[in-house]
Amino acid sequence: MRSRMCNKCRVFSPVDEWDYGCPSCGYDNGHGNGYFSEFPGVEVIPDIPRFKSPDGAIIEGRKQWRDHLKRTDCVEMGHSDMKVAKETWNKRQEKHYDRIKNAANIVSDWSDPNPKSLDAPIRRNDLAVEMANRLHGRPAPDRKTMIKLTLDEMRRINGRR
Ligand SMILES: [Zn+2]
Repeated sequence: MRSRMCNKCRVFSPVDEWDYGCPSCGYDNGHGNGYFSEFPGVEVIPDIPRFKSPDGAIIEGRKQWRDHLKRTDCVEMGHSDMKVAKETWNKRQEKHYDRIKNAANIVSDWSDPNPKSLDAPIRRNDLAVEMANRLHGRPAPDRKTMIKLTLDEMRRINGRR
């Protein structure tokens, strides 16, 4: 329940009981009976119950919690904030995968003299394992040789099935 503090007697009373002035002392902001006083008190929202913050501090009320967040440079996140953050992260990941896919397409178009031989799908893992075996114990090849070896290995794997 919301309550309002009287500016004069400092007593909190439920908002419903405020009519023309403070239910406790009758203070009406100097307007007299029958005239609704505009700002006879301060309206307050019920405070939050005492709790322990994630960093161990005991928080006794709303104001202390606000100050605590400011002091520790934290932002309080509700369920909806977490949802937005997760969606943003997913979108970034999708974009990243698209970039990788596009890069792979460009490389194969540009370097493969016989694209038909690459039609059969090769599981990434098979190729990676074969390439690792093939290069094991040898000096790292230059870029051109590496591409040639990779295409050669892809054809070899395709020919095997
Ligand atoms: Zn009062």
